[in-house]
Amino acid sequence: MPTIKQAGPRVFLAVLVAGVIGFIAGQSVTDLPVAMASVAAAQDDHPKYSPVEPRARDFYAPNSEPLGPDEMRLIACGTGMPTARPKQAASCWLLELGNGDKFIFDVGTGSAERIAAMQIPYNYLDKVFLSHLHTDHFGDLDALFVGGALAGRQKPLRVWGPSGDTPERGTEYALDHLRKALTWDLDGRKGLTDPRGYHLEVHEFDYTGINEIIYQENGVTIRSYPAIHALDGPVSFTLEWNGFKFVFGGDTYPNKWFAEFAQDADLAIHECFVTVPDMINKFKFTPQSALVVGTQIHTAPAAFGKTMSMIKPRMAVAYHFYNDFDTVTGIDERIRSTYDGPLSLATDYMVWNITRDDIRVRMAAVSEDVWPPPATEKPLFPDQSTRVPISDWVNAGKLDMHDVIQPIYDETNKAYGINEKQD
Ligand SMILES: [Zn+2]
Ligand SMILES: [Zn+2]
Repeated sequence: MPTIKQAGPRVFLAVLVAGVIGFIAGQSVTDLPVAMASVAAAQDDHPKYSPVEPRARDFYAPNSEPLGPDEMRLIACGTGMPTARPKQAASCWLLELGNGDKFIFDVGTGSAERIAAMQIPYNYLDKVFLSHLHTDHFGDLDALFVGGALAGRQKPLRVWGPSGDTPERGTEYALDHLRKALTWDLDGRKGLTDPRGYHLEVHEFDYTGINEIIYQENGVTIRSYPAIHALDGPVSFTLEWNGFKFVFGGDTYPNKWFAEFAQDADLAIHECFVTVPDMINKFKFTPQSALVVGTQIHTAPAAFGKTMSMIKPRMAVAYHFYNDFDTVTGIDERIRSTYDGPLSLATDYMVWNITRDDIRVRMAAVSEDVWPPPATEKPLFPDQSTRVPISDWVNAGKLDMHDVIQPIYDETNKAYGINEKQD
């Protein structure tokens, strides 16, 4: 291996020519990287890339980087439409603060698996804020609730969400009935695993509150204000911590409250809906439905841009569209007709690191083979008397498997010093 760093211009040229000739002649391509490295070495201030030195990582590997005391990290765990698809789950945003606090804003359909990909112990994922009660904004709450409890959340899942214009349209009603819908699920888990996580702690707040505090703990303040979408009830949120201002807008027609309370945010997320032509041609909406849904119930891209030009965030984040090669230019052009500031066109697994003087935007590189991280506290084996029995009639249908299962008991009892017996 030649000493690349000391190679003078003449050596560099010779190596380059030899490498290129060798490459063209088809004799050997192994000289070519040497020649390429020499190109880098010839420029004094140029970074020394592999094979001389490793290149700096430009993706986010989940749960591998500490946050600084003056830093926030936002991860897009859902950016798409009510019809979740492999590339994009529905609205879900995981915000991590330098003080260790973590918050989930919306938990739309399909987002629970994106949260799982971040490999954060579920005990730290116990705070969810819902912008409204469309399934694309809370459709995976059941998955996070039950799946999180099974995988190490040893405390209730705390959920903040708005009231409605009637009690039946509020968060308390929705989650009370979600609990009821999960009666079979929850009864069927009693007495089998750590029971502490299978509780929902619901905090319904008044959707008409104008920038009122709905959460204040550990130096973090979250306020809500109304949004204009489908029915009364939807809201947007501002989170303030350590001099930072993070804003999350749920679905809305552009509204005066967001324009006022999102002013000068460090990062502002706001919906930006599929363009009307794409609604008609790709989603197969009627032109009439495309117009009303795409511009009156939601925020059209040009209206998103106009809103961001008013609030001037350090970073504007657009979501709620299918972000594809053949649709993103239509979104971008329309936004850019009304806004020329910093912009992220969100897709799932986009990551923002926000510090005082920088906002670094990357994609996360996730593994599909994730298992839940270890629980932060020792798991409890629950009281056996809480088990709900299966009837004798159903149990009578069991095949006799005692002989093949007994070795599993023997091995586990021996390994862990316990003395469990088959049912
Ligand atoms: Zn909605
Ligand atoms: Zn939505």
